[in-house]
Amino acid sequence: MNDKIYDVVVIGAGPAGLSAGLYAARARMDVLILEKERTGGQIVTTEEVANYPGAIEDETGPSLIARMTKQVKNFGAQIITDDVIDVDFTQNIKILTGEKNTYKTKTVIIATGAKGRLLDVPGEKELTGRGVSYCATCDGDFFSDLEIFAIGGGDTALEESLFLTKFAKKVTVVHRRDKFRAAKSIVEKAEKNSKIDFMMNKKVTKIIGEGVVEGIVFEDTVTGDITTYMANDEDMTFGIFVFAGYIPQTEIFKNHINLDSRGYVLTNDSMMTNIPGVFAAGDLRQKTLRQVVTAVSDGAIAAVESEKFIEENY
Ligand code: NAP
Repeated sequence: MNDKIYDVVVIGAGPAGLSAGLYAARARMDVLILEKERTGGQIVTTEEVANYPGAIEDETGPSLIARMTKQVKNFGAQIITDDVIDVDFTQNIKILTGEKNTYKTKTVIIATGAKGRLLDVPGEKELTGRGVSYCATCDGDFFSDLEIFAIGGGDTALEESLFLTKFAKKVTVVHRRDKFRAAKSIVEKAEKNSKIDFMMNKKVTKIIGEGVVEGIVFEDTVTGDITTYMANDEDMTFGIFVFAGYIPQTEIFKNHINLDSRGYVLTNDSMMTNIPGVFAAGDLRQKTLRQVVTAVSDGAIAAVESEKFIEENY
């Protein structure tokens, strides 16, 4: 047990957690950031960050995160690699149990993020950021005048496919059933768009490519027939956007704070959960836009509000 009592422990070192750490450290709070793997979160899988204000040329997810991490450390926040496996929010002093150590703190900022659900097929991991993407806003622009396959049948798949028609010469929505989960109004809008095609009852079984996406294999979910699509000689590649839903990384908190039915954390405008002194920031919150710019905003608010909380309660 680490007997020290921190002012704030931030769980997760993606953009939300690093921003929270930065603001807390700047306010001279005693701050610890716990990260289970490496700093960065989902954004480190993005090859080019084009929509974060101020990021103009040659900005990648890793380069942005490297500068954020350096900045946070320069202001005195400590970052420790440990995987938090249990929490106790029942007392004023909160206790976080990691695989390596146990931590005591006056406030907690949960910033463990969300993960796009993977298709879990061969080639997907290797070609992520090389033709396979989970974010149209981030990566759509890279597929100007190329073909795109958008995988999924929910609101996100259909809405993002409409957005992707701004760039792509054609977007094919691939859904594993014959009925969309998406709202009828969104489906109708997509059906009216001349750049959108539909492949129903098809699931992806393999993504092919050496260094970049070159092909995709589908299985018909009714007949079992296998079809392979390969990029044409002129384009050489195409985009595969996976919109198979998101999974907030909130499993260990589900018996400790209020979550919505899909597992996203409910907070007020101060980023505070239903437990006083426990805040949440970033993609794991119930909200409408999950981007670096909204994550860092959440983190800053959570840190400032945790400072106020300590002033008022300790
Ligand atoms: P979602 O509603 O969970 O839909 C995920 C889609 O991915 C489903 O069609 C599902 O197929 C498919 N899928 C899941 N795993 C798959 C796999 N391994 N292979 C192929 N397909 C797979 O997720 P979402 O579309 O991201 O929406 C999340 C929530 O946000 C929803 O509540 C949605 O209404 C909401 N949302 C609302 C708006 C809006 O109101 N404008 C916009 C975006 C999102 P099945 O249908 O067969 O399960």
